[in-house]
Amino acid sequence: MTRADVLVIGAGIVGASIASALAAEGRQVHVLSTLAPGDGATAAGMGHLVVLDDDPAELDLSRWSLELWRDSPHLATGEYRDCGTLWLATADHELAALRDKQQRLQAAGIGCEWIDPQALAVAEPSLRRGLVAGLRVAGDGVLYAPRVAWALLHDEGRGRITWESGATVRALLPGGVQLDDGRRLDAGAVVLAAGLDSARLLPELRFLPRKGHLAITDRCALPLRHQVVEVGYGASAHGGADSLAFNLQPRPTGQLLIGSCRQVGRDDRTIDPAMLGRMVGRAVAFVPALADVPVLRAWTGVRPGSADGRPCIGRWPLLRDVWIAAGHEGLGITTAPATAQLIVAQMAGQATPIDATPFDPARMVATEAAA
Ligand SMILES: Cc1cc2nc3c(=O)[nH]c(=O)nc-3n(C[C@H](O)[C@H](O)[C@H](O)COP(=O)(O)OP(=O)(O)OC[C@H]3O[C@@H](n4cnc5c(N)ncnc54)[C@H](O)[C@@H]3O)c2cc1C
Repeated sequence: MTRADVLVIGAGIVGASIASALAAEGRQVHVLSTLAPGDGATAAGMGHLVVLDDDPAELDLSRWSLELWRDSPHLATGEYRDCGTLWLATADHELAALRDKQQRLQAAGIGCEWIDPQALAVAEPSLRRGLVAGLRVAGDGVLYAPRVAWALLHDEGRGRITWESGATVRALLPGGVQLDDGRRLDAGAVVLAAGLDSARLLPELRFLPRKGHLAITDRCALPLRHQVVEVGYGASAHGGADSLAFNLQPRPTGQLLIGSCRQVGRDDRTIDPAMLGRMVGRAVAFVPALADVPVLRAWTGVRPGSADGRPCIGRWPLLRDVWIAAGHEGLGITTAPATAQLIVAQMAGQATPIDATPFDPARMVATEAAA
């Protein structure tokens, strides 16, 4: 028996952020989760807090969310570092993409700085020579999200959040849920924030798994200050086919976290040695000295992709008092705080600080009907 105003399904970074934001508004929240808080895609991710600009709606959401992260009291828990992102163009044909990125970011009021090859060699001496330009976005950062998910559920002692793991929801009901263990729980509202598995409960969401590998090196003396990413990453993240892009993150321990790749339609967690080898090889092509640094461990995770690449955030039109916050693909750690604020505002019937229409889950039903 719970006396919750709201049931939140999922204790990844999205569900935990929503629970915390609702509790801050005075609501009593109960979180149900199969896994421990912060497990799932959240534990597998890189934790790069990054403004992505390939889609105007995504730019709006990620820009606002980064502002919210920077004001969050949980940055220390998440070992936040404001390392910024250094986007790289490898050849002349990529200069236009880097210039476009610079223009879109500047138009959105995001500070960024063009770096020529000489300055690039000073900014990041371990990068190979011959890169044609860089774009530094100083406001991006890195966060260890699983710890933040735990912290968010502790609610700063207000006692408005209860949570249980090992609690799998089998079905959504009007104003409540049915659990695998036979219980039925009721509440004024239900928020489905179960990542990829949200589509098991609502098949109309038609989420698409996009599996990724990551590898972490031993501690090393290689100097790296920024998260360095090739400018082709955006296209790789949004394309419909398997893809690979150089993406390297310095960890506080002196280790380097190597990404990133996407295998579309794959939701298994097995390591694919060929894909892992290609990913590490691409990193070595950008940072040659990496070839001498041992890789300690590799793992996989599955990004919850949606058909149009945007998350679903808002009221579910087919079931009374059910809300959705899922489908954040490779940007859910970045966009969790803004997602939570959109849900809070919409539940309270208030205007949202950014246009929430592009994220309206009703579009999934409309597409389904048209198909
Ligand atoms: C390799 C990789 C790299 C990434 N890098 C980044 C990055 O650098 N920056 C970034 O912003 N994002 C990144 N992401 C994306 C990010 O990790 C995800 O978008 C985000 O973690 C999604 O969070 P979530 O809370 O929606 O889902 P999850 O973290 O998957 O949590 C889902 C929750 O739902 C629960 N659940 C599922 N089904 C049920 C059920 N039936 N009943 C009860 N509970 C249920 C699970 O137990 C879990 O608690 C990356 C992802 C991957 C895989």
